[in-house]
Amino acid sequence: MQKLTIAVDCDDVIVPTASLIVDHYNKTYGTSVELKNLYSYDLKVWGVDDDATAVARVDEYLMSDEYQSALPFVEAIDALRTLSKQHDLHIITGRRDFLATATEKMLDQYFPDLFQSVQYTNFFSDKPRSKSEVCQALQVDLLIDDHLHHAKVVADCGIRVLLFGDYPWNTSSDLPALIERVKDWPAVVKLLTTS
Ligand SMILES: [Mg+2]
Repeated sequence: MQKLTIAVDCDDVIVPTASLIVDHYNKTYGTSVELKNLYSYDLKVWGVDDDATAVARVDEYLMSDEYQSALPFVEAIDALRTLSKQHDLHIITGRRDFLATATEKMLDQYFPDLFQSVQYTNFFSDKPRSKSEVCQALQVDLLIDDHLHHAKVVADCGIRVLLFGDYPWNTSSDLPALIERVKDWPAVVKLLTTS
């Protein structure tokens, strides 16, 4: 197999954070938010009167030690080490710039020297960068991401995507040809390494 330039998402691909956010939110605010509500704007679910309050509550958690020291998937550590021997790897995350220090600390600890760069696209901000733009700038051949939105905008540019994991926010019965579903890291390794 040829050497590929691969972009890898962070949250819920390398580090399982969605369940942490939901669990903490419910514990703190007495709500019953479920994983399937994570990207929902239903104010009743979040127990708030306006979007801004829910966003502020989640942001507060994103700044906590608990979130910032979340452990990666054990399988991701081996898988990315294996992939790095054959391919060039970059991180392209929706995280905002304020999480750069915590993110790089986690990457240095568990994935030392595996990534050529870490790109923050500030997805939930006034000035997001599109993952498709970043993929094109880095001449990425393939993106590994759990979110259908990012998968679709990147596939629209002609870039292959592995849609990672079985999550309520990435269910779709009708995926574009360039998007392929992968259930976990061993499946990714199987697809992207020569045996
Ligand atoms: Mg993600």
